Amino acid sequence: MQVNTTDGPLALDALGRTLIHEHVAVGFPGWNLDVRQPKYVREDAMAKAVDYFQQLHDFGVRTVVDPCPMDLGRDVELCALVAQKARIHIVCATGVYTEAMGIPYSFARMDVNEIADIYIREIEDGIAWTGIKAGIIKIATGDGHVTDYERKALSAAALAARATGLPILSHTENATCGHDQIDIVTGQGVPPHQLMVGHSDGRDDHDYQRSLAERGVYVGFDRFGLEMIVPDEVRAKNVKKLVDAGHRDQVMMSHDTVHCFLGGLPGGMSQEAFEQMVPNWRMTHIFQHVFPMLKDMGLSDADLDHIVRENPRRFFAQARTG
Ligand SMILES: [Zn+2]
Repeated sequence: MQVNTTDGPLALDALGRTLIHEHVAVGFPGWNLDVRQPKYVREDAMAKAVDYFQQLHDFGVRTVVDPCPMDLGRDVELCALVAQKARIHIVCATGVYTEAMGIPYSFARMDVNEIADIYIREIEDGIAWTGIKAGIIKIATGDGHVTDYERKALSAAALAARATGLPILSHTENATCGHDQIDIVTGQGVPPHQLMVGHSDGRDDHDYQRSLAERGVYVGFDRFGLEMIVPDEVRAKNVKKLVDAGHRDQVMMSHDTVHCFLGGLPGGMSQEAFEQMVPNWRMTHIFQHVFPMLKDMGLSDADLDHIVRENPRRFFAQARTG
């Protein structure tokens, strides 16, 4: 049983500790159109990412999932270069972003089967001309409401998941629409354990998080370090509550870091200014600061290792076997 990485198929047992949601680079549609921005130098972006990805070895991380959707400047060859230089496995994604923040025009004109066909080709044949195969399927919904376009893209993702056995990982806005995502994906015959509802830590709402877990999906506490959304102590408290409620096997932890915002951040803030605003938003943060916090709350080393090692492994393994 194997997982598609930028470096080819990887045995499940070689995944090791895995960060389920981090980005080498992200660019919102039009990122390359603002001539006021400094010139994008791919080598500089790579060097910076390599520096950070190398630090993961000290914490036993062997694999990072970069679920950048197709329409957010996805650059799987850049991921491949970073993976090779940092000696870390990187898993890339197929799938599109939200209607409001993605680039839906082309896909809006296709039907569900056409979109699914594109996803399946990216998984089985490779992404564009790179030969790099997608290892996970990305879905995304906007704030509080699933648009028709998003519903179609989610259905296509579910068809691709059924055809290929790959897991689906989601983006939600403000921890809303998780149940809609489950309804749409399972409505196409995909078992809930093949889906991770991402960014479920976007509000302080244990009842919401537990209600997702009770339906059998993985629950993403995957924005640690982005404390202007939710303080990490609140995220940690809610991880502990979900574990206490019997759902340790469904907790996923990550940071959603972005090592290079292509063309700067939306709204014009520089990468440097943003990083100063969120000093803990780096891929080693949960190991350095959040794990000790969770241990103070009563979780054991074994619990924490289980969450970052066993849960991602099972997510990929179960999806494959259906
Ligand atoms: Zn992300």
